[in-house]
Amino acid sequence: MWIAVSTACGYFALASLAILLTRLSGGIALLWVANAVLITALLRTEWRLRWIPLGAAFAGSLVASALFSPFPVAAIFFAAANIVEGLIVVLLLRRANIEGDPFATPGTIVTFMVSGGLVAPALSGIVGASMAATSFGGDILSLWVDWVAGHGLGTIITTPLLFLPLASGRRSWSRKGARPLLAGGILVVTALVAIGVFSQNRFPLLFLPVLPILVATFYMGRLGAAVAVAIVGVVAGIASSLGLGPITLIDGTQALRFQFLQLYLAVQFLVALPVAATLRQRDSLMRAVSRTAAALRLLTDNTSDVLVQLDIEGRIAVISKSIRELGGYEPSSLIGRNANTLIDPDWRDGVRDTHLAALATPDRSFTVEYRARKANGEAAWFESRMKAIRDEQSGEVIGAVSAIRDIGHRKALEQRLTIVARTDALTGILNRRGFTEQVQRVLAHLSATSQPAALAIIDADHFKKINDDFGHAAGDAALVHLAHILSGSVGGGDLVGRLGGEEFAILLMSATIDDAIATCERIRTEVQAALIAAADAQPTIRMTVSCGLAPVVAGAPMARIFAAADQALYAAKNAGRNRVSLAA
Ligand code: GH3
Ligand code: MG
Ligand code: MG
Repeated sequence: MWIAVSTACGYFALASLAILLTRLSGGIALLWVANAVLITALLRTEWRLRWIPLGAAFAGSLVASALFSPFPVAAIFFAAANIVEGLIVVLLLRRANIEGDPFATPGTIVTFMVSGGLVAPALSGIVGASMAATSFGGDILSLWVDWVAGHGLGTIITTPLLFLPLASGRRSWSRKGARPLLAGGILVVTALVAIGVFSQNRFPLLFLPVLPILVATFYMGRLGAAVAVAIVGVVAGIASSLGLGPITLIDGTQALRFQFLQLYLAVQFLVALPVAATLRQRDSLMRAVSRTAAALRLLTDNTSDVLVQLDIEGRIAVISKSIRELGGYEPSSLIGRNANTLIDPDWRDGVRDTHLAALATPDRSFTVEYRARKANGEAAWFESRMKAIRDEQSGEVIGAVSAIRDIGHRKALEQRLTIVARTDALTGILNRRGFTEQVQRVLAHLSATSQPAALAIIDADHFKKINDDFGHAAGDAALVHLAHILSGSVGGGDLVGRLGGEEFAILLMSATIDDAIATCERIRTEVQAALIAAADAQPTIRMTVSCGLAPVVAGAPMARIFAAADQALYAAKNAGRNRVSLAA
């Protein structure tokens, strides 16, 4: 409703002024500013409600033409031409995807200037000039030129003056940080310069107002530009109509002088508005950049991960503050340092290879675990997740970013789990998996040094009967006791494991086969002599073991050594148990 009333009244007022003041030659109005009202209203109204401003403007135009034009019959056609012209401008803007602000960027300003200053009036002028020619006679072509010039210039000068104050609201009357007093001062100076230029015609100083207009543009943005041009326009208009100023130097009709003045003001706009739009874009870009920077700082300063940027050589370019908590380092002390120097020597190659892999495959991220030194010299476990960074313009890889976290807790847990997975729960010695893994490792080492060694498999005799006679718990106690005897009978470098059930194994290092036989005999007699207590009972359980022994042959596969010891054990069992048997 408000838009209908304001559009109708605004259109009526400006149309009436134009008809009354600028129909100098008695033909069509030389400056038609009323369409600025329609265009502004259309740009500020939802597209589906476009009929409201269109209808309101039509009514305003109709009444103005009917009241003040000497040919009221033609009024309906003029009104139609005017409305269609405004609609064409907005349609062309919409085609160029400009739905809101046509003064936002230099590109949208050019689109606005071309559609509002040229294309739309050229089309509406066909109807307008024909109507004018039939109503008050005259050359249709020169009427058309008058129409296009008057409408085009009127629209492009007046629309920003109407649109910008409405669109920007009070807040953006100035660019960020502008002071109202200084802004007012600049506008006063603009007025004084304009008065100086247009109150004399000794010098054609028309170029001079550009200066304060540009100062206003830089200081107050596009609204400042619009207001400054308007001030110059008002001063120039009044002066020229009083017969003052350089415009009067033009040798021609008052109408020609007036059109020249419009062209002059249009050029001032064309200079100032794109500058203002560019400044505005830069301002919002700067705001976006500082918002992004603030968001990033928030992230990097508040994450417990350390974020590092490394150059191609692995030198630290940027590192987040969290390195203080993680490593005890002062961030600035690490800048320029090669990240590899912080890493434990054993892990340097692995980390360097990962860094190189990340640089070589920029679209993937890579993870590496390693030990590194904290500032106090203590070594700890860390994990780095790396990804290459590219130069935004060239796409060339210029380094890598890495997110580092302390994985001490995870590593400790992993190590505990590894131990649990390799330990026998009942006896606390190695289980089959732990034992065979260790044997495998020792064998690899042994084949290089060719030291003698032996493997013995020890199995409790008739163990089923112990379970049957004394119960399963007593059987367990017997197994624990046996493990204890085995552990106590071997040296520090030897291995003891429970292969499963009541079957154990020992790997005797640096032992000749005679040494090994002696050790197994000692074990056998000790077990035989032992009296084992069933839970809460008198020590009454006796047991014996059989033992199969095989020498460790350098280079032989582990499975063959185990098979040989197994066969020897089988032989010992067959030979009556409670004895040590050597592999054939
Ligand atoms: P052999 O002299 O021929 O070795 O006779 P054995 O009875 O010892 O042999 P066998 O392998 O037939 O039986 C082993 C028994 O050991 C069967 C099982 O009940 C018992 N056993 C295996 N693991 C455990 C354990 O963890 N605790 C207890 N209490 N008994 C176990
Ligand atoms: Mg047995
Ligand atoms: Mg057995």
